[in-house]
Amino acid sequence: MGKAYLVGAGPGDPGLLTLRAVECLREADFILYDYLTNPRTLDFARPDAERFRVTQFPGTHAERWQHIPQKIIEEVRKNKVVVHLKGGDPLVFGRGAEEAEALRQAGVHVEIVPGVTAALAAAACAEIPLTHRTCASAVALVTGHEDPDKATAALDWSALARFPGTLAIYMGVTQLGHIVRGLVTGGTDPDTAAALVYKASTGEQQTISGTLATLEEQVRRAGVGRPSLVLVGPAVAMRPGVSWFEARPLAGLRVLVTRPKAQAIEFVRRLELLGAVPLLFPVIDMRPPADWGEADVAIRRLRDGGYGWVVFTSANGVSAFLDRLSALGLDVRAFGRAQIAAIGSATAAALAAVRLVPDLVPTEDMRSERLAELLMERCRGQRVLLPQAQQGRQLLRDVLATVARVDAVPAYEQVTCIDGTEEVFDRLRRGEMDAVTLTSPNIATAFLAKCDEVVRRQFQDGKTRLVVNSDRLARMIESEGFAAVVAPDPTADGLIEALKTLQAERRPISRPGTR
Ligand code: SAH
Repeated sequence: MGKAYLVGAGPGDPGLLTLRAVECLREADFILYDYLTNPRTLDFARPDAERFRVTQFPGTHAERWQHIPQKIIEEVRKNKVVVHLKGGDPLVFGRGAEEAEALRQAGVHVEIVPGVTAALAAAACAEIPLTHRTCASAVALVTGHEDPDKATAALDWSALARFPGTLAIYMGVTQLGHIVRGLVTGGTDPDTAAALVYKASTGEQQTISGTLATLEEQVRRAGVGRPSLVLVGPAVAMRPGVSWFEARPLAGLRVLVTRPKAQAIEFVRRLELLGAVPLLFPVIDMRPPADWGEADVAIRRLRDGGYGWVVFTSANGVSAFLDRLSALGLDVRAFGRAQIAAIGSATAAALAAVRLVPDLVPTEDMRSERLAELLMERCRGQRVLLPQAQQGRQLLRDVLATVARVDAVPAYEQVTCIDGTEEVFDRLRRGEMDAVTLTSPNIATAFLAKCDEVVRRQFQDGKTRLVVNSDRLARMIESEGFAAVVAPDPTADGLIEALKTLQAERRPISRPGTR
């Protein structure tokens, strides 16, 4: 029998999911997710889990809600484990109780998983204490936007005006004027500290702080909208000028990451933790080569001791090659006494993951040219295996072939997986990206091929910068008429250094009203 989990997805940062939420996501066959939940959260689900965004239901916000329990019931009756991911906590302005009740009525087994609610995230990430020994001994979670159909009287702002602590007001941006007037009329001192935190816990977080009297105007000038949380009370004044969160090195930097997902996810997380707003947009995908014939012959030759060296030029090559070994019923013993070379630290790390220690890894310069130079003498007169991408660069093969017998075999193929009509291109056209990272010639070619004149102009004007991981790629970009920012080394660390440089050059983002 299926079951349903109502799961709090937290305020936006995937790191703020609970372990229980992750367990439920792994178990889920069908995931329904709300408008405010970060799609990144779904990375924790099984790839085969079906996903359904609540906004796919027809009608207005209120109408859509009707479909949710129905859909869950329908899926549970198909024996599925259904997760409904809800922003923040399911029982804080999330209709979680109504939903659980509807499910229970239908005989569906329900469990509820709490989440980090927006008020807690805003407090931690904007460094606004919700309680304070000296001036705030209570916290109230308040809605600033009441259900217009609600029969009972509207919220009693004059009662809240006497609240002995901090008001955390949800859904309050559009009603800010009304809220302020309600509180002031009820007796709150207009000089009471007040703040608005936009998109708490995400790279786009902005905090506007002032007083009850000034906040509305500050918010209007800053032009921030939903989702935002409004905090009112004396403890709000304890906030430092800039919070630890907003002071992170890449705060607010919008970065388009174009690598294949499997390799990019760790990088994306590092960017998030540094404060950036990464958008993962893989332009190429990896798949097995059209024909394993050559690779299989080479693998058997390797097992039979036929190679002096095996040379890996990418982490992909390592995983694809080892996967194929396993598929053939072999394991790392197939390497026997062959020596192993890796082009750089990421490739070496992929080898280390399967407990293989390369005999040669260039440290400073991680280009094929350098690897060729170092290998030349070492592999002279031997047979060398070079598992690589189908359309891989041939420099290494050509150079080594002058001194050794080289078998360059395809271990994987890279295929373009973008469609130029995607929404991401609209964002690029509007100049909404500060940087695009391009990490291989194939990626750069596939990406640039889809960029129209409007997007190209953003690159030319330097509004969106192209960040690359090698001089060779920079030259390629330059030949297209764009300037490139070159990472000091081709690893993720190098790219991050380059992004930090960009961030420093970028016009300091104005944070109106931030003290
Ligand atoms: N169940 C959610 C609240 C849903 S109501 C929770 O527990 O957080 C939606 C409101 O929550 C938004 O209008 C906004 O006021 C607030 N909110 C949600 N996520 C937010 C975020 N990341 N930053 C600031 N406010 C947020």
